[in-house]
Amino acid sequence: MGNKTYNIITIGCQMNKSDSERVAGYLENLGYKWSNNKYQADLVVVNTCGVRQSAEDRVYGIIPRIKKQNSKVKIILTGCLSERKDVQKRLRDKVDIWLPITQISNFQFLISNKISNPKSQIPNYLELKPKYQSKFSAFVPIGNGCDNFCTYCVVPNARGREIYRPVNEIIDEARELVERGYKEIILIAQNVNSYNSPFTPKNANPPAGGRQKINFASLLKLINNIPGNFWIRFATSHPKDMSGELIKTIAECDKICRHIHLPAQAGDNEILKKMNRGYTVEHYKKLIKRIRQAMPNASITTDIIVGFPGETKRQFNRTVKLFKEMKFDMAYIAQYSSRPGTAAEKLDDDAPKEEKKRRERELMVVLRKTALENNKKYIGKAVDVLVEGKNKKGEWYGKTRTSKNVKIKIQTHCDASVQGKKDLVGEFVKVKINRARDFGLKGEVA
Ligand code: SAH
Ligand code: SF4
Repeated sequence: MGNKTYNIITIGCQMNKSDSERVAGYLENLGYKWSNNKYQADLVVVNTCGVRQSAEDRVYGIIPRIKKQNSKVKIILTGCLSERKDVQKRLRDKVDIWLPITQISNFQFLISNKISNPKSQIPNYLELKPKYQSKFSAFVPIGNGCDNFCTYCVVPNARGREIYRPVNEIIDEARELVERGYKEIILIAQNVNSYNSPFTPKNANPPAGGRQKINFASLLKLINNIPGNFWIRFATSHPKDMSGELIKTIAECDKICRHIHLPAQAGDNEILKKMNRGYTVEHYKKLIKRIRQAMPNASITTDIIVGFPGETKRQFNRTVKLFKEMKFDMAYIAQYSSRPGTAAEKLDDDAPKEEKKRRERELMVVLRKTALENNKKYIGKAVDVLVEGKNKKGEWYGKTRTSKNVKIKIQTHCDASVQGKKDLVGEFVKVKINRARDFGLKGEVA
């Protein structure tokens, strides 16, 4: 086993990236060594995404290419597509092991054909020790799965019901990371706002006579109390579960970043209902108002789907109106794509591709404008930046607490402690902003 090599191809969201870190940790524990070359590795794990057709298509491209170049390779397919019957049929001859991510630790039994009933053997896969990709920023999953069944979305089918990690396990992982010098802890789940610890922590003080309930707000407070100089980020929040208590907690905790990602998906109540989102546009606007009152400088980002079945121009115009009013800092605008097994699959995907594109472009125009207006407010201000890397031009770059991308120029006369450092990656640096664009800022070390 010692000489075997592996490679992982990760497609999709932060949750998939985090899952791949756990797969890597697990494989290395079994003695596998990382290989940079996916065409030569003995084992290739393809961690798939089924949220959109384009993500799915990448899998159909890459797997046959790898098998063609290396017929001896063992391919494991995990992630969103691992239980889709049509995918299994299509890639029958190319994939060696189909393994849902929650059963990844059955791999060693499957590969040696020793297992009769895989499901009975496994611990919770989130307990697996990860191999973090970054030396300063780490994803910490707090749960897996989704119970919301938005009608367009494959996640509830692909990942199953919501399961949350016990609070102590999360705190221990975060504390260990901070002790190792990590500067950013990113808590992730499909819907962080519905977090509920299955166990009460050892050191929590339950009110007399009762078991203390650990919801997401209490979890954030506990992580915020870990001593050290680090930031906390989290994703994704669901508007129907974002409580006043949670907004208050975020505003009060000094380590929590001032960035709220709150997917609206649409600006029309009828479409929201057809999507089964569980809130109205009015509720969404009220939340944003509360967030801005509690944290005037917070940046707010969203996800939107254009061209949902039956979305009329009038309904779409309400999304445009929402965009203008909310003045988002960033938005991930997706053209609706019909997904197998979802409730919306039965609806007529009636918006032509061209019209979906046009709607996307129209929203982008509004977004660029509001994002630029928001970014101009940074000019002349000094902000903390967590440095992520250095680009080809030799400029350092990183992100603010509000998730703004910043390019940093280092002046010759600047602080010697910064200048003397060869590598700023993973360091907090104070930067004075002097230029603003729609999706980025530029500045000099203050
Ligand atoms: N749990 C998160 C998002 C998960 S999927 C949430 O509730 O917001 C990430 C994003 O992909 C979604 O926010 C949505 O905008 C987009 N998406 C999901 N299914 C889609 C589909 N069928 N077509 C187009 N975009 C989709
Ligand atoms: Fe999908 Fe909705 Fe669950 Fe998000 S909340 S993962 S969009 S079903």
